[in-house]
Amino acid sequence: RTVYVNGVFCPEDEGKVSIFDRGFLFADAVYEVVSVLDGKLVDFAGHMARLARSLGELAMAAPTSDDELLAIHRRLIAENALEEGAVYLQVTRGPADRDFLFPPQDTKPSLVLFTQAAALRDKPAARTGIRVVTLPDLRWQRRDIKTVQLLYPSMAKTEAKRRGADDAWMVEDGCVTEGSSNNAYIVDAGGKLVTRPLSHAILPGITRIAVLRLAAESGIAIKERPFTVDEALAAKEAFISSASSFVMPVVEIDGQPIADGRPGEITRRLRAIYIEEALKTAI
Ligand code: PLP
Repeated sequence: RTVYVNGVFCPEDEGKVSIFDRGFLFADAVYEVVSVLDGKLVDFAGHMARLARSLGELAMAAPTSDDELLAIHRRLIAENALEEGAVYLQVTRGPADRDFLFPPQDTKPSLVLFTQAAALRDKPAARTGIRVVTLPDLRWQRRDIKTVQLLYPSMAKTEAKRRGADDAWMVEDGCVTEGSSNNAYIVDAGGKLVTRPLSHAILPGITRIAVLRLAAESGIAIKERPFTVDEALAAKEAFISSASSFVMPVVEIDGQPIADGRPGEITRRLRAIYIEEALKTAI
């Protein structure tokens, strides 16, 4: 694979970052994952807008312009002949002598990008649904910033696998915040789509924006409010959304089936509409 590291396109085993990089020492870094369908980027502008927001919240300099970032994404896709998968982008505050204090503003940010090939459209899990377990949300209180502090979500997903499930739904004050790397939704008894409103408690998913818009356009009633684990267990349907899973049904929570234990009607419809639109609008 060809990767991009600070201005250079090179083979993946030649890409180097300093051991003093603050991304490595302090998780002082933000990232984005843009999915690729038919060699094109899905919702690139949305991901760049969130990147700018993450950088702004941490007073971190933008590494380069969005146009340049688009050119880098496209060159990696071309060089790696990527048809389906994702482009990962990470910006760190850059290398500096180890100190908790942010280094001077002229520290050069590090910019790293690489591609990952993966089947996104035809995932067996999209037909069968995934199983989740609930775990306490032990992350920090600014989950709206897409930082690379992914240790707890990583622990949670590993614990979920250990318990025979596919992912974790994290819970705070009795309500589901989100999945380890995705936003969480249920369809309640009245057929309403319920998902937690944006706040510091969750990541503002780029896929979430599209899902809510497409649901509204399809005449599905939406209520943005926190929901409890008990409500989720009693729901008609449950699903997650993210750039790499699109819309993915959840059919079991803590070992209990949701409704008949099969992917729900609204979930399947939203997945189909989402993919259709992603293919149409990818650049
Ligand atoms: N929530 C968390 C914690 C995430 O890590 C992610 C994506 O990685 C999402 C939600 C979904 O965001 P997006 O739809 O932009 O991929």
